[in-house]
Amino acid sequence: MRAIIEIIQADITTLAVDAIVNAANNTLLGGGGVDGAIHRAAGPALLQDCAALQGCVTGDAKITGGGNLPAKHVIHTVGPVWKDGSLGEPKLLESTYQRCFEVAHQQGLKSIAFPAISSGVYGYPMRESVVIALSAALDAREKYPELERIIFVQFSEGAQQVYMDAAARLGIAPS
Ligand code: ADP
Repeated sequence: MRAIIEIIQADITTLAVDAIVNAANNTLLGGGGVDGAIHRAAGPALLQDCAALQGCVTGDAKITGGGNLPAKHVIHTVGPVWKDGSLGEPKLLESTYQRCFEVAHQQGLKSIAFPAISSGVYGYPMRESVVIALSAALDAREKYPELERIIFVQFSEGAQQVYMDAAARLGIAPS
């Protein structure tokens, strides 16, 4: 069975899945946006786990436990800061999604939920990042048969619509 792709509007910290993805910064020591929300909900144990990882380079991903979150794990990844798209941003963003799926696979995880990596404070235009996100999910579901659920989580109704429109263009029928 290939994984189901879900597109939902929710607070990612509320999801009881094998892993939620954190759009972190290079220090992995917390930040604003979804990073701040995840650390607040997970509690101090998460920061302790993160401190042991000694940071993360842009495009890579590292896993920790989920602390007090309903999710079992957090996969921390660092997306590119958007400048104008000519500085390797698309490849780096693609790499964040690929690395998250790889790390999930190494741990045998079956469900993973993503925020819109880089499309908040880091400024990556969502109309472009969504295509990279959904394409990576299509690849991962061919590559990793153990995956059951790939969930894209949006905070706003506008973002949810951008994801639904892109899914339709790519021929994805989200559940
Ligand atoms: P980045 O620095 O990688 O751009 P941000 O955290 O600023 O990361 O934003 C990434 C995306 O996550 C944005 O679309 C933002 O609206 C969204 N977001 C923020 N908080 C949450 C949350 N609790 N659940 C889901 N998505 C969130």
